[in-house]
Amino acid sequence: MKILSGPTFISILYLIYLITIPRVSSSSPSLTVPHHFLQCLDTQPADHGSPNSATAVIPTNSSFSANLMSAVRNLRFASASNRKPEAIVAAVTETHIRATISCCKLLNLELRVRSGGHDYEGFSYTSPVPFVILDMYNFHKIDINMADETVTVREGAVDLVHKWQQVAPVIDRDLFIRLEIKPINRKISKGKTIKVSFIGMFLGTPERLLNITKNKFPELHLTSSDCLVKKWIDSVVFWANYPEKAPIEILLKRISANEYYWKRTSDFVQTPISKQGLKTIFQTMIDHSPLPRRVWMQWNPWGGRMGEIPSDATAFVHRGGNLFMIEHFMNWYRPGDKLEEKFLAIARSFKEAMAPYVSKNPREAFFNYRDVDIGITTPGYNATYEGAKVYGEKYFKGNYLRLVKTKARFDRTNFFRSQQGIPVLA
Ligand SMILES: Cc1cc2nc3c(=O)[nH]c(=O)nc-3n(C[C@H](O)[C@H](O)[C@H](O)COP(=O)(O)OP(=O)(O)OC[C@H]3O[C@@H](n4cnc5c(N)ncnc54)[C@H](O)[C@@H]3O)c2cc1C
Repeated sequence: MKILSGPTFISILYLIYLITIPRVSSSSPSLTVPHHFLQCLDTQPADHGSPNSATAVIPTNSSFSANLMSAVRNLRFASASNRKPEAIVAAVTETHIRATISCCKLLNLELRVRSGGHDYEGFSYTSPVPFVILDMYNFHKIDINMADETVTVREGAVDLVHKWQQVAPVIDRDLFIRLEIKPINRKISKGKTIKVSFIGMFLGTPERLLNITKNKFPELHLTSSDCLVKKWIDSVVFWANYPEKAPIEILLKRISANEYYWKRTSDFVQTPISKQGLKTIFQTMIDHSPLPRRVWMQWNPWGGRMGEIPSDATAFVHRGGNLFMIEHFMNWYRPGDKLEEKFLAIARSFKEAMAPYVSKNPREAFFNYRDVDIGITTPGYNATYEGAKVYGEKYFKGNYLRLVKTKARFDRTNFFRSQQGIPVLA
């Protein structure tokens, strides 16, 4: 796969310096905030023949709710108690972005930028203070060279986990083997047991794959009947959990009908967990899971190209030295504050029980799996360097200071802010 050009994410950080802000020419005190905002948009420079406000919807528009909900991936953040935005601007050109930023500044509204809406804590579409969503969906452009690739999928058994930790990160550059570990009901006797699935992807032929596993991971007993051969693009449909024969066009669907309530967090593992440690973890999972498949984990091997890039080469710091990353899952399917409290408490307790087995000082976290439990700034977002370090070092380790310096260069007024923002160095 080659990505020829990526989404135009970063340009927004630079825009803040290019803006000149004309005054809002007239505004009636009887207007609501959303109407003020629309009026403000139309006082800003516009593209020829197209008013800026045409890109915005406000709560009185019939399409507002559907638009807001279209990118809510976690129903925890869809409830009435979550503050709704004053407006949603679906920017089509950079002019719309400039106008939105200017009007948020003029009207003292917070800006939340939304692309796919996958933020684990809903930061792109919720805020504790009055805010506007800038939807960047129209700015996505990814060209993919669809080369023929092959994909292999298989399930395995629990007693292989210990070996997997040592083999998976180094087995072969073209082979990725993920573990899914879930408590399930026993089929014959009462009680729960643990099911471990090995789900892999190999870029190459089944023959070459079988040769590799025979030599380096014979305990898997992989055979050609365990393998599915697919084009690379069809493998994306597989990983996205769509039915096997679903057409690739399904990937263009922006709205999912299967959303539910969840909490997901991350951990990194740097030394192999002993067999006794694994047994304890599995028992703890069973003890924590009120129903089958509620508390569960995905273990994703590191290594390969990931480990070859120096940790300070990009903002993404979690590279060499990690064996695998854990994603912790807690799912539930009915609304209610009590239920949410209960499941969040279980998720936190299980995460605590995992502490002896994962990275320490700091206990590292993956920024894509955003987690407010690792620390947030106080209301007002006036975080100090030391205050924001609580989450900054977990997400970015040694790169945290570099991000703080970058913030000072490009966003001295802390306009782009959130509960886990990067502070401005005093
Ligand atoms: C179902 C699901 C599956 C996932 N699978 C994976 C996975 O396999 N691997 C993985 O690494 N992650 C995965 N994630 C996590 C996902 O990659 C991150 O949450 C990512 O940040 C989502 O980006 P988004 O644009 O969809 O989300 P959004 O919620 O729109 O944005 C995420 C954050 O980035 C900010 N933002 C969005 N657009 C811009 C912009 N143009 N400029 C500046 N800031 C912006 C938002 O304000 C928000 O803070 C998954 C998430 C979900 C819900």
